[in-house]
Amino acid sequence: MHSSDTFDVGVIGRGLFGSAAARHLAEAGCSVVAIGPTASGGHAGIYSSHDDEARLTRRLDRDERWAPFTARAVEGYRSIEERSGVEFYWPVGALFASRPEIDGKHGVSMAFLRDHGKPENYWPPGTAGWKQWWPRLEFPTTHEVALDPAPAGYIRPKRLITAQEILTERSGGCLVDDVTTVLKPRVGGGYRIETFAGSTYDVEKVVVATGAFVNAFDVLPVQADITVKTEIVILGEVSEADANELGEYPTVLHQIDPDGIDDIYMTPPLQFPDGRHCIKLGANTTLDTWPTTLNEIQQWFRSDTDPDYLPLLQPALASLWPDVDFLSLRTKPCIVSYTPDRFPLIEEVEPGLIVAVAGNGQGAKGSDSWGAVAADLVLGRSLPLGET
Ligand SMILES: Cc1cc2nc3c(=O)[nH]c(=O)nc-3n(C[C@H](O)[C@H](O)[C@H](O)COP(=O)(O)OP(=O)(O)OC[C@H]3O[C@@H](n4cnc5c(N)ncnc54)[C@H](O)[C@@H]3O)c2cc1C
Repeated sequence: MHSSDTFDVGVIGRGLFGSAAARHLAEAGCSVVAIGPTASGGHAGIYSSHDDEARLTRRLDRDERWAPFTARAVEGYRSIEERSGVEFYWPVGALFASRPEIDGKHGVSMAFLRDHGKPENYWPPGTAGWKQWWPRLEFPTTHEVALDPAPAGYIRPKRLITAQEILTERSGGCLVDDVTTVLKPRVGGGYRIETFAGSTYDVEKVVVATGAFVNAFDVLPVQADITVKTEIVILGEVSEADANELGEYPTVLHQIDPDGIDDIYMTPPLQFPDGRHCIKLGANTTLDTWPTTLNEIQQWFRSDTDPDYLPLLQPALASLWPDVDFLSLRTKPCIVSYTPDRFPLIEEVEPGLIVAVAGNGQGAKGSDSWGAVAADLVLGRSLPLGET
């Protein structure tokens, strides 16, 4: 076993919440060690919710609890980009499409966009006015469509983490590619973090930001009250010509008519690590499950999801892009975590031990704020979420 290193704060989990918390803490002058695997899977079989090329973002949110946190984070994107030198934000706008009678299923109310947005950004059912700007995108004639313009768009989550970590290191923070297996209180105060690779770190305070894996190891004194749901995306590969033509199209949130799937969200074509340009579409489906053990989560990530999910998702993709020839189609398993009140779980569970998890399927866009909330709890600068 390696000898212990000592820090003011240990951040466990280098995902979207953890990397933001570590950056805020390092910039506040704390000595910080952030511990987490840099690759999804790996020897310890730990995956993540951010291992993807895009997350939708927007400033507006009809949930008053979320809106200020998200807005603050969105306002800060450009500053993080400029200071880190890493581009991660594309404010291409967001198109909402839904039947008038089921308004508000997505995070922004269609009525809000219709009443408060610019009239030229709202198209009643049957008018297809959006085609003037985005002619290759199709919605049913039964649906009203509205644009939430920039700053809505998308962020690239892995690049955001890179940006946060560049800034963390610049402020003296230490990044460790490892998995925490045990967290235990030390005699005399503080905590000892033990890792999969056999290292130990002694810290005064800890932020546990391990996402859907928060209950997988012996880290918290009591299990976090979260549930975990499988999520699926389909990646439709397009030609380079289509990627260039469609690359500035807005993101889409579409209340598709039910056929085994629901609540579609979609990005324009993006280049994936294998070089392919793909449109990404995700949705809730009737096949989604709620794994409860580490083994079940790992099995989900290791499973071949194409046979079950391609038949569900491919028609939806094709209906939105009727004249796009997809060169290949594949699905990718993902995971999200929820709290009972559908709000992130960020609290001090005992003095010096802060948990920051559960993006409830929409934690990426405001992750810098959620990390800041955790950092403020470490620094004793704020009340717990929800208390005034
Ligand atoms: C398919 C999909 C689409 C989504 N779309 C959107 C969207 O459009 N907009 C949006 O805002 N949000 C979206 N989200 C949600 C968003 O991605 C999550 O809310 C966000 O990633 C949560 O951040 P996190 O840091 O809590 O978890 P994660 O990003 O999963 O990070 C947790 C990290 O902890 C690490 N870890 C776990 N256990 C350990 C351990 N024992 N030791 C060390 N490290 C550990 C993991 O490796 C991981 O890196 C989506 C999620 C999914 C799955």
